[in-house]
Amino acid sequence: AALGRHALSAIAAVRDVVVEHEQELGRLDAIAGDGDHGIGMRRGVEAAVAAAQSAATSDGGASVRRILAAAGEAWSEKAGGTSGALWGTAVIAAGAALGNRDRYTGRDAAAAVEAFASAITTLGQAGPGDKTMVDALLPFRDAFLTEISGGAPVGRALAAAAAAARGAADLTAGLRPLKGRARPLAERSLGHPDPGAVSFALIAERLGRHLE
Ligand code: ADP
Ligand code: MG
Ligand code: MG
Repeated sequence: AALGRHALSAIAAVRDVVVEHEQELGRLDAIAGDGDHGIGMRRGVEAAVAAAQSAATSDGGASVRRILAAAGEAWSEKAGGTSGALWGTAVIAAGAALGNRDRYTGRDAAAAVEAFASAITTLGQAGPGDKTMVDALLPFRDAFLTEISGGAPVGRALAAAAAAARGAADLTAGLRPLKGRARPLAERSLGHPDPGAVSFALIAERLGRHLE
């Protein structure tokens, strides 16, 4: 149950950063997409927090896996949109990888990050350079795995991975979108970063600070 509370406070930290940047994410998505990335992320993550809270307070506190499963299902269902389905599925996959243990090692965290990333690439079928959140996610995953295999503690690995995600999200400004709703207006998107890559980087940075 103590670990469940950590999962809960991590999701609440994600909610806070999404709420703080809702307008900015909406404006970014309005450049070549439909402008709903901020509101969709907020709806999804608020539903995730509520579902995680009720799972965590049910019968003495659910496992990390059950808390994240409830959070991910609610996220997919309430967000609407492409990013909501991707985030919801990935949160469920990360929870399944973490399972229900008394304590977690760096290797467990690495397995959760790998499961999160492969859920997104499997469902969305986007690759590097398509100008999606995948362009921030894969550098994040690679940096995290490198840090963990080098023996870094989870907090430090996450901070390094978040910095990689931020740099990679900024670089998406130079790309034309090849997947998702922004594709028909690809030229308009040039010079602006991908909204899903930016929200991913913001969330990674906040989680890095949260777990430090
Ligand atoms: P929608 O496009 O349905 O309105 P959002 O605006 O919430 O959903 O999310 C848009 C973001 O989703 C894009 O900026 C991009 O990062 C991400 N995205 C779109 N399609 C894919 C995909 N196939 N794989 C991964 N990410 C994607
Ligand atoms: Mg949109
Ligand atoms: Mg939409």
